[in-house]
Amino acid sequence: MSASASSLPDAPRVLGVAVPTPLRRLFDYLPGPETPPGGWRPGLRVQVALGRRSVVGIVIECRATSEVALDRLKPIEACLDESPLPADWLWLTRFTARYYQHPLGDTLQQALPVLLRQGRPLEARTLERWRLSAHGQATQAADLGRARRQAELLELLRQHPRGLPTAAVTAQQFSRAQLTALRDKGLVDCLEEPRLASEPPRPKTLLAEPALNLNREQAAALSTLHDGLDRYHPCLLHGVTGSGKTEVYLQLIEAVIQRGRQALILVPEIGLTPQTLERFRRRFRVPVVALHSGLTDHERLDAWLAAMSGRAPIVIGTRSAIFTPLAAPGVIIVDEEHDGSLKQQEGLRYHARDLAVARAHHHGIPVVLGTATPALESLAQARSGRYAHLRLTQRASRHPPAKLELIDLRGRPRQGGLIPSAIDAIRQTLAAGHQVLVFINRRGFAPTLACHACGWLAECDHCDARMTLHRQPPLLACHHCERQQPLPPACPTCKSGDLRPLGAGTERAEESLAALFPEVPVHRIDRDSTRRKDAFGEVLAEIKRGEPSLLVGTQMLAKGHHLPHVTLVVVVNADAGLYASDFRALEHSAQLLTQVAGRAGRAAHPGRVLVQTLHSDDPHLRLLAERGYDALAEALLEERRGAALPPFRFLALTRFESAREAEAMGLAKEAGEALREWLATRGNAVTCLGPVPAPMERRQNRYHVQLLLSATQRSQLHEASAWLVAWLEACRDARRVRWSLDIDPQTLA
Ligand code: ADP
Ligand code: ZN
Ligand code: ZN
Repeated sequence: MSASASSLPDAPRVLGVAVPTPLRRLFDYLPGPETPPGGWRPGLRVQVALGRRSVVGIVIECRATSEVALDRLKPIEACLDESPLPADWLWLTRFTARYYQHPLGDTLQQALPVLLRQGRPLEARTLERWRLSAHGQATQAADLGRARRQAELLELLRQHPRGLPTAAVTAQQFSRAQLTALRDKGLVDCLEEPRLASEPPRPKTLLAEPALNLNREQAAALSTLHDGLDRYHPCLLHGVTGSGKTEVYLQLIEAVIQRGRQALILVPEIGLTPQTLERFRRRFRVPVVALHSGLTDHERLDAWLAAMSGRAPIVIGTRSAIFTPLAAPGVIIVDEEHDGSLKQQEGLRYHARDLAVARAHHHGIPVVLGTATPALESLAQARSGRYAHLRLTQRASRHPPAKLELIDLRGRPRQGGLIPSAIDAIRQTLAAGHQVLVFINRRGFAPTLACHACGWLAECDHCDARMTLHRQPPLLACHHCERQQPLPPACPTCKSGDLRPLGAGTERAEESLAALFPEVPVHRIDRDSTRRKDAFGEVLAEIKRGEPSLLVGTQMLAKGHHLPHVTLVVVVNADAGLYASDFRALEHSAQLLTQVAGRAGRAAHPGRVLVQTLHSDDPHLRLLAERGYDALAEALLEERRGAALPPFRFLALTRFESAREAEAMGLAKEAGEALREWLATRGNAVTCLGPVPAPMERRQNRYHVQLLLSATQRSQLHEASAWLVAWLEACRDARRVRWSLDIDPQTLA
């Protein structure tokens, strides 16, 4: 296409702009004042007036007409970009908004780095470097008179003829104001240099360390992946923990980079550790860009732009990294695809794995879902043949994953939650010079505090939940609303002083283990103990040294980490998920148990996994223990089929919440009735269940009610939920009740 003005599309008379509002529609503006160099196109960021505010929006449609009279439309205040945001990014965000029935303006905002939301230029940041000008070189410090600090700054810069970056100057306790003062006097120049090389690196030798020789199963998986590099090719890489999935990713990425393409890797929040990044950076001689919550806004923008321009061949990030634009997408890898953190649980409730599959389909590239414990959705796709099913059943180390040994808690005395046979096993393991992981998925000292005189339990005033007892520091905390209160000196009901902790959390297990095994260190790892930055890394480094020690931890320790010296895992209580009401509870708890068990015996020694339970004859738990996750998953799939639940049906959950119970329930009833009537007249087969109170009805003093839509056909579900959303947006009563729609909900809580 030539760049001459005559080849530009006809100048539109109206621009449909997505602006940051919760409304599900575009706002129309007139073009102006100046036409951007390439003409008006979708994807350009613009500054527009919205009510009394001026906001950054994105042009979505260029049209000839508007439903509003043209003389009532305001002109665009300014166009912020010379060229539009990438088309693939725009496609993905529009797809996301449509699929999740979420306002487009808000979706676009969430998919942009903060600085771009604020209207900063779409350019890699430059590095400022300050250097004496010719005039500055000829000037003596004494000439600056009373400005003593400026004189000292002048002398500092004199010692650095090539100049100093701003950060190096401020590190010496000088301020930016002092720098600009010198610049304004003409003594100092500020040079701007690009922070990143502008060309993608083309190293002659891509690998910085040699690839491993793959075992037979890994080689077979890689060969299938190689065959699908040039098309949409969804694959489930289903390999037991420690089977070398990461090595398969690394060799696949190598092939992708050799073709001049980029790899996007999504990992769970808990998995994006320095160790993971290190593994990728050690292998390749090209930039590996990481997108995680620890970045500053500037770093995030740089990373985003490096991916967008193609300068970064490898992009690794958590959930939201799915929205990173790529110049030359070659593969998307979703590691631990079953992990709950891939689904956003508020606002825009997207699932990054599902978007990864949609995006790969759009680009015509492979997508690899890797896990030891596939989500039932992914397993069903693999069983039906829609996804290639690549199996890795062998561990790279000699020992197969340990089997779960169920041990019955009934009638046994407990110390810190552990029964005598578990304590004996711990003692033997430590005596053999190995490490033990005690897994307990409750942080705090005890799940709650109870009065032994009258049976009172510490409950949160704002939630239908018990408060957790903490000892470090001593207080009661609600893990649902984060409220905290001091420990009561006596029972608030009967004034008895006999208040006792009920059950065990990580702090209590730590305390008991330290008393039982005073000769070894006990490391506790949970959200409380690792609040300080680096604390987790320091403990991990300590553990890796391999001295006999006890690790007490929540799921933070259960996933992803390679703990080569752990040969015994003790699960304090496996029962939480067995009888929970949520339809996915059993699946998630089996995944977690399998991941925890996978920590044992990964290196030189075989491992054991002891699972304490009150229900050692529970059929699901026995199936998991005797035949493993895959067998249980098959059984669960059949149960889901029988119960008409996902993946055999599609769900959308509408949540209503209000400070007044009757208001939430009232609106949900009205919405349900209106929807049922509409479904009947449309002949739409969606079923609408409820309204019913949410499993925890009161949270933070607000009442939660829900309406569940269920369908065998996605298209019908989408049609019905779109109608419901439109109805709710138009409904006057809906303004006092907060409502939200969750397509493909992960939980019905
Ligand atoms: P997963 O991602 O499946 O849990 P990893 O890729 O982390 O497994 O591999 C587990 C361990 O086995 C790692 O220490 C890795 O270096 C090693 N490993 C993987 N593949 C091989 C191989 N083909 N030969 C030797 N060691 C391997
Ligand atoms: Zn009492
Ligand atoms: Zn609470």
